[in-house]
Amino acid sequence: MITFKDVSKTFTIGKREVHAVRNVNLTIEEGEIFGIIGFSGAGKSTLLRLVNVLENPTAGAVEVQGVDLASLRPTEVRKVRRRIGMIFQNFNLLTSRTVAGNVAYPLKLAKMPRAKIKERVEELLRFVGLSDKAKDYPEQLSGGQKQRVGIARALATSPDILICDEATSALDPDTTGEILRLLKKVNKEFGITILLITHEMHVIQSICDKVAVMEDGEVIESGGVFDTFTSPAHQTTKRFIRSVQ
Ligand code: ATP
Ligand code: MG
Repeated sequence: MITFKDVSKTFTIGKREVHAVRNVNLTIEEGEIFGIIGFSGAGKSTLLRLVNVLENPTAGAVEVQGVDLASLRPTEVRKVRRRIGMIFQNFNLLTSRTVAGNVAYPLKLAKMPRAKIKERVEELLRFVGLSDKAKDYPEQLSGGQKQRVGIARALATSPDILICDEATSALDPDTTGEILRLLKKVNKEFGITILLITHEMHVIQSICDKVAVMEDGEVIESGGVFDTFTSPAHQTTKRFIRSVQ
């Protein structure tokens, strides 16, 4: 479970203050696919960065499994990060390594024995449907295939939580559908909690159980996807609804 308790994050640039996240209260239950939607600059990525401790809140607390992330020592932070996988819009693959090398990378960092790494990489590539591409380099792959590698790599250390930052925004509609189906499979088969941010309404509608709508750093409404989108309380939510009609 991930809990945001009255979380704010302010960046100070010279004399200017940017309130990236303001007074956010949210609970993401285990096994949920939780979507966060908002226009550019709404604070979505900052919210995710607070979960894997790439940022610390200016006020309030972010708790994972009941533990306040701000209370952790650096070694414990590394442990928490290993429980959280992440995938990105631009895939962030290592261009100098093969597909298998990319998936093996976090396992090498975790000092898994070689023979075990080989076995685990094969298993993960089978899961994402890329067994035949193990020896290829990222530049030889399509966008959808690159994101499959990203997913395999994120799953390598068997995380409890998968964070997706605009993971399908660079993909065409068919490929987006494929990746979303794969994320659903990740959630179903391994019970992994997925926290997904997007500015695309149809992504939320196709796989999320719950949604939070963000604007100007605030969560302006949240709840079940169906309820939130059948009776929206805010103008911004209505704009997202109109975007798919
Ligand atoms: P997008 O959809 O464009 O990715 P977002 O919803 O992810 O947007 P954030 O990246 O979280 O938005 O940014 C929220 C606000 O915080 C923006 O005004 C941004 O400029 C500001 N911000 C984010 N990170 C920093 C930083 N490291 N230093 C200063 N300001 C920042
Ligand atoms: Mg962002």
